[in-house]
Amino acid sequence: MLPIRVTQVPEAARRPKPDPDKLLFGHTFSDHMFLAEFTPEQGWHSARIEPYGELSLPPSTIALHYAQMIFEGMKAYRNEAGEVYLFRWRENAARFRRSAERLRIPPVEMSLFGEAIRRLVWLDRDWVPTALGSSLYIRPVIMATDKAIGMHASNNYLFFVICSPTASYFPKGFYSVSIRVSEEDVRAVQGGTGDVKCAGNYSGSLRALAEAKAKGFDQVLWLDAQERKYVEEVGSMNIFFKLDGTIITPPLSGTILPGVTRASVLELSAELGLPVEERLISIDEVMETLESGKMEEIFGAGTAVAIAPVGSLSHKGHCITVGNGSPGPTAMKLRERLLTLQRGETSDPYGWREQVLAPEFAPN
Ligand SMILES: *Cc1c(COP(=O)(O)O)cnc(C)c1O
Repeated sequence: MLPIRVTQVPEAARRPKPDPDKLLFGHTFSDHMFLAEFTPEQGWHSARIEPYGELSLPPSTIALHYAQMIFEGMKAYRNEAGEVYLFRWRENAARFRRSAERLRIPPVEMSLFGEAIRRLVWLDRDWVPTALGSSLYIRPVIMATDKAIGMHASNNYLFFVICSPTASYFPKGFYSVSIRVSEEDVRAVQGGTGDVKCAGNYSGSLRALAEAKAKGFDQVLWLDAQERKYVEEVGSMNIFFKLDGTIITPPLSGTILPGVTRASVLELSAELGLPVEERLISIDEVMETLESGKMEEIFGAGTAVAIAPVGSLSHKGHCITVGNGSPGPTAMKLRERLLTLQRGETSDPYGWREQVLAPEFAPN
């Protein structure tokens, strides 16, 4: 594997850690970052960890024009004993490779991805907050760096990883989010890029989110682009329904992002003894079963929030409360199970977590 050269920020020059109660998601970054470059001659090379700082790029950098750029979102967790854990990072590394393949970006070896994350998190381990629900958010990115704006697949690339300490998504206690079904805009189409994490997927979702927020809702629920009938995702989360005692989530049909949290929720639901179904579910079925009271719970799942219960759903001007509007018991149970697993506070029968250790003790 590529050697990683490390240039540390001197102890005395390390920045003070932010007040954990005042963290805004994605605003503060740790002391170091990881970088590597790709050229056709050398492949991936110059892997290094450096002090966090600015990138210098000419305005002609091709990713800035056509968004040939992919990313990941994962977290490191720290428990009261001071142990730091990564959660299912190989899933993120594998998805990063699938995203790269879809956008004609040269993929990064799993081993380099893993070592970059481990070394960086170990170096910045004091930046991992301890409070329940807080974590160090890790953002790997690959961007195309040819200095030429003709539309083409770039020859040169930059891979970087930055880390941001984050508080719980629910700092004032767990509450339910309100969601509005997008009627005009869609997120993804069959054959498009909805099932990979590429930069270009997200700015197209801003208008629907702005409309939802203007009407007082927290998030957008996306329907399929073809029939505008089947439920796909909510914001940047996969969606789950508890209907008649069964956990239901839409299948990975090519337009839905295959979330690591989604996969974990399916396994943990089965562990709780709940039947799980991956099947198409129409917005009409959702609204009807909400009306009749058969729909017990709705929640979103993703790395950023873990599990977010949905308290109300609005479709074509018709707003219905889910249950009594407060977080449901299944969402709460799944959240608790997930957080304790991630934080290393319970045994890990699935082999999902890896403790971040000093490089000489780390696994390969
Ligand atoms: C990242 C993301 C998710 C959640 O995936 P996780 O791996 O669970 O974090 C869901 N939907 C979209 C659109 C996403 O970008």
